[in-house]
Amino acid sequence: MENRSEDNTRHSPLQPRRLPATAISVVFMALVTLSILSIYWLQAAQSKAYELSQAKLVSGNLTWSMAQQATDTFDEANLILDELIDRIKDNPSAEQLDKTQKLLKRRVFTTEQLHGLFYYDENGNWILTSFDSKPEAPNNADRDYFIFHKNNVTLSPRIGRAIRSRTTGEWIIPLSRRINDSEGHFKGVVLATIKMAYFDKFFSTFSIDRKGAIFLALPDGTIIARRPFAEEFIGASLAKGEIFSIYLPKSPADTVMIKSIIDGVDRLFGYRLLQKYPLVVAAANSREAIFAEWKTGTIKMALMIGAVLLVNLLVGLLLIKKIRYGVSVENHLKQTRAALEKLVLQDALTGLANRRHLENSLQQEWLRAVRHHSPISLIMLDIDYFKSFNDQYGHIAGDHCIASVAQAIAQCIHRPSDLAARYGGEEFAVLLPDTDAEGAYSIAEDIRLAVLNLAIAHDGNLARRVTVSLGVYACVPETAEYKQLLTQADSALYRAKRSGRNQTACLSLIEAG
Ligand code: GH3
Ligand code: MG
Ligand code: MG
Repeated sequence: MENRSEDNTRHSPLQPRRLPATAISVVFMALVTLSILSIYWLQAAQSKAYELSQAKLVSGNLTWSMAQQATDTFDEANLILDELIDRIKDNPSAEQLDKTQKLLKRRVFTTEQLHGLFYYDENGNWILTSFDSKPEAPNNADRDYFIFHKNNVTLSPRIGRAIRSRTTGEWIIPLSRRINDSEGHFKGVVLATIKMAYFDKFFSTFSIDRKGAIFLALPDGTIIARRPFAEEFIGASLAKGEIFSIYLPKSPADTVMIKSIIDGVDRLFGYRLLQKYPLVVAAANSREAIFAEWKTGTIKMALMIGAVLLVNLLVGLLLIKKIRYGVSVENHLKQTRAALEKLVLQDALTGLANRRHLENSLQQEWLRAVRHHSPISLIMLDIDYFKSFNDQYGHIAGDHCIASVAQAIAQCIHRPSDLAARYGGEEFAVLLPDTDAEGAYSIAEDIRLAVLNLAIAHDGNLARRVTVSLGVYACVPETAEYKQLLTQADSALYRAKRSGRNQTACLSLIEAG
């Protein structure tokens, strides 16, 4: 049976709602995981950017020193050509030519990069060479450098495509210049041939990865020297490659990441156009090699972070399990406590409030009524001739009767603040806060009629059925003495009994009924 006074429990709207501990743990774990992953991602991205910037720096330095070396190499050869031109421009005698030939030999001997020095007349005939012997038909009029100088008035040095020497079979790079006579007519060509092996040797001092490359090329993309060396590369054209078709026209030196259309490998290319000579130096390292160290570091870090996250997850799950267990124990305790509290305040037979509950509520409501100057009423009721009911029908039937009367009482009270209680044996009390004598009397009569209507047979009663007598006391209290509510209601009940039972007697300032 519902105990109406329970509804009276007041909840503060300001009381904060407790978040479930498991939800907090899950959110906390998710935040920790997210933070660790974000830090990891940020760190990995930063170190990757750093690796790339370092690689660009190294690449820039490398191409700068390659350009410097190439310039020095050709400068030295060009100076020797200057010297040679000086000696042959004023129609030298046979003796002078002989001396010059010896000088050329010395120069080739002392200059590491030089393969040979040559002077051809306006028809391409070999006049001077640093070599001791000349070919059988010594004419180079068919070589492209000879044709170029014959047809171009420029006196600037020209670097030609790599060729195989007719004298030694070595791969050489020709550096040639036109000679004019005093009237500016074509008088022949001087040529210094530079050993490609010299560049190869220099290139080998730089470390490049397995998929990388270093090369020297003409601005039109024709490869002059390359490392790693492969014969098919020499003279091959890179004109269609992105460096020569896109980047070089935009900037004379840069570092760019390019995906090879041939092997699909990403490479970081550093390239530089020489200032003094029409030459381009370039060095490429594969992206794979640039980021190899970063990759291993990042993978190691990922494994470590994975282990940390796994431990975090396991500890978290363990904690959640413990918290859940704690929460379930707490809930269980709460339920047990609520059940116990209910039992302590409830009458076992009827489910109504017990005497202790009634007295607590009575005291509280009395004080409230004093504060608010509001009326308060108490109905005391007792089953008539119950001793004889027990005697006639037995104790078990007596208990059933008490429970039925309790149910009838409960059905007659409607406000949440009203409280029906079993006061003792077959005596009940109904506490009615904010209720005056008139209202209380009316409820008392409702109860009396409800019990009568139960029509529980009782031969020992004049009415031949179970009846109750009720005493009502109502007042607007002023003193703190709440017990008078009980004593006065009891007096009223006594009056009802004396007046013949099955009736309501009322005591109050305003007499009702
Ligand atoms: P009255 O009309 O004057 O009230 O007569 P009565 O016989 O009811 O007298 P009284 O109120 O003094 O009787 C109380 C009796 O109620 C005593 C006991 O036999 C019976 N009783 C008290 N508590 C219980 C109970 O819990 N169960 C049962 N079956 N009987 C009880
Ligand atoms: Mg009694
Ligand atoms: Mg009685």
